[in-house]
Amino acid sequence: MSSNRKLLMISSLNLLRRRSRQISTFSTNLTPKSDPSRQSAHSRVPNKPIGGSKLDYALFGRDFSSSSSGLDKCWSCGAIAASKPFLFCESCRSVQPFDHSVDYFQIFGLERAFAIDDSGLESKYKDWQKKLHPDLVHTKSRSSLSLKEKEYAAEQSARVIDAYRTLRTPLLRAIYLMQLEGAHVDEEQTVSDPELLAEIMEIREAVEEVANPPALQQIQFQVKGSLDHWSKSFENAFKKRKFEEAITSIQRMTYYSRINEEIMRKL
Ligand SMILES: [Zn+2]
Repeated sequence: MSSNRKLLMISSLNLLRRRSRQISTFSTNLTPKSDPSRQSAHSRVPNKPIGGSKLDYALFGRDFSSSSSGLDKCWSCGAIAASKPFLFCESCRSVQPFDHSVDYFQIFGLERAFAIDDSGLESKYKDWQKKLHPDLVHTKSRSSLSLKEKEYAAEQSARVIDAYRTLRTPLLRAIYLMQLEGAHVDEEQTVSDPELLAEIMEIREAVEEVANPPALQQIQFQVKGSLDHWSKSFENAFKKRKFEEAITSIQRMTYYSRINEEIMRKL
């Protein structure tokens, strides 16, 4: 790791760091799947990274047997699922087993795309948490199965939290979309662009030197402009399924996001 890189790797939001570590475990190869509409729960999940974190485990490490049957039935009362995704039974109010075929966009009733209407994201998130929170399980169930259901609730609830965080943050949303396509992002590639690194170093120096909030806000305005530019660039590339271009955009988004976090900490 170069010294430039070390400097640039200074701390950002925990979430971004966590996600970045996850990206860094992926291989350098771009391996887009041929037809996303034909993807099964298996093929949609990227290759299991080496030395996976807890998060990797949550995303990649489970078995996929629960999603294979056609109609979803409640494990507790046998009721047929009224709607997709079937995380919770409206008939008996039981939390359902984890289903890997359900992606984050489906959890929030959104189209799988970069541009999303995020206005209903928070209320939908709160709604899910009211239904899926593990602490609510034992209070409503007196059966011996309540322990099992609590486990389901812990998984579903954690997944909904991750889905919410991922979808509401453009960078994480972009990375997630690429993961769903089976295209792997190599974070190390970011250091191979000297022009970008020089620009980022320059901005960082400016951020360090400037003390007054208005000047910082001015820098932030520029950084956000770059972030928007690369977000749009990602969106266009992703729509055209130009994954290499999409990943380049993600790498730029990552750097500008980190700088933005630095500025926000200073403001
Ligand atoms: Zn039920």
